[in-house]
Amino acid sequence: MGYVQGLRCRECGRAYEKLPQHVCEFCFGPLECLYDYDAIRARVSRASIEAGPPSMWRYRDLLPLDGEPTVGLHVGMTPLVHAKNLGEVLGLTNLWLKNDSVSNPTLSFKDRVVAVAVSKAREFGFDTVACASTGNLANSLAAHAAEARMRSYIFIPADIESGKVVSTLVYGAQLVGVRGNYDEVNRLCSEISDHYHWAFVNINIRPYYGDGSKTFIYEVIEQLGWRAPDHIVVPVAGSSLITKVAKGLKEFEMLGLIENAKTKIYAAQASGCAPVTTAIKNGEDFIRPVKPNTIAKSIAIGNPADGYYGIQVCRDSGGYGDDVCDDDIRASMRLLAETEGIFTETAGGVTIGVLRKLVEQGRIGRDELAVASITGNGLKTQEAVASLLPDRIDIDTTLTSFREAYAQMNA
Ligand SMILES: *Cc1c(COP(=O)(O)O)cnc(C)c1O
Ligand SMILES: [Zn+2]
Repeated sequence: MGYVQGLRCRECGRAYEKLPQHVCEFCFGPLECLYDYDAIRARVSRASIEAGPPSMWRYRDLLPLDGEPTVGLHVGMTPLVHAKNLGEVLGLTNLWLKNDSVSNPTLSFKDRVVAVAVSKAREFGFDTVACASTGNLANSLAAHAAEARMRSYIFIPADIESGKVVSTLVYGAQLVGVRGNYDEVNRLCSEISDHYHWAFVNINIRPYYGDGSKTFIYEVIEQLGWRAPDHIVVPVAGSSLITKVAKGLKEFEMLGLIENAKTKIYAAQASGCAPVTTAIKNGEDFIRPVKPNTIAKSIAIGNPADGYYGIQVCRDSGGYGDDVCDDDIRASMRLLAETEGIFTETAGGVTIGVLRKLVEQGRIGRDELAVASITGNGLKTQEAVASLLPDRIDIDTTLTSFREAYAQMNA
């Protein structure tokens, strides 16, 4: 059914069977999915995609399943919004927001990767799924495991936002809070995965999981009327999404679905955890791991798995990377809410804050087509902005009381 042929080492090119494995045994390079693009080219066209379901599965021929997807059938096809009001504030006429914080089952872009990973784990015959998460992956995996009737073990840093804890536990997942940061949780999970026969979606299933991210940029291109944007700003944690944005652009070009894509790709990080953008700004091509300290917990990964490739895709595309401090993140969350009516989480504040900097630096021109990636929902990180908001006004149940309040509001 599917067109995924196997896995291949990104570094030495060695080929592997389709297995739950993510590292090359010879050079320790990351494994990625290899497709039969000639067969895909013969089958896939703009028209065939447009005739598909209104979900990420309209691109299923470019996803690594052998059979039909079995969970997350409604993930994807999130709105692409022309942000005229925010554009006016920033000095852009052609600004678009890809809003993955709505429509998806757990309100973040992680539903894309999890839908693929859990369907793949079932194909492999696993009965238990697991992950190391900064929050959104926890929510998504818990929900999709429930749908798939699989057991789930979910490992998070013990200090993540309460909204993300509640939205994991509600699905009946086994949630393990680890007293450490994400990088320590992830290291522990690699060790656990050697001892338990579980599908760790972002460890041993990672090559398949990652490709779910490609649908984010596929949708952007299709929603723009089959054209690639001039610029795209992407929030970066482990660099899975940003590298798959580059891969998706290349694939659509190779398949003749778009003319040559000249999209510049920009990494956005929080200054309190910016290993990728620091390397880009310093002109280095290696990652110096950092200890995260930021309110943008969902993207607080100090030693990103694909960070090296994240730097490369920005540089090779002619893009750049920058970061913003926590106050800018909060202010940018409010700016987006007040101009476009979109309440994003801290990672979205990072994207908008960095977009603003890139415009100020003259990297994005007034009439060029720019896309900002809104990847998570603000309801899950309310504590980040709560202290910044004006007080509400409480009144008695009388018209007089309201009149007094009204006078106060307009004073
Ligand atoms: C996970 C996540 C990202 C990006 O993560 P990568 O590991 O770089 O793919 C971006 N935004 C949000 C809200 C996330 O949860
Ligand atoms: Zn290798």
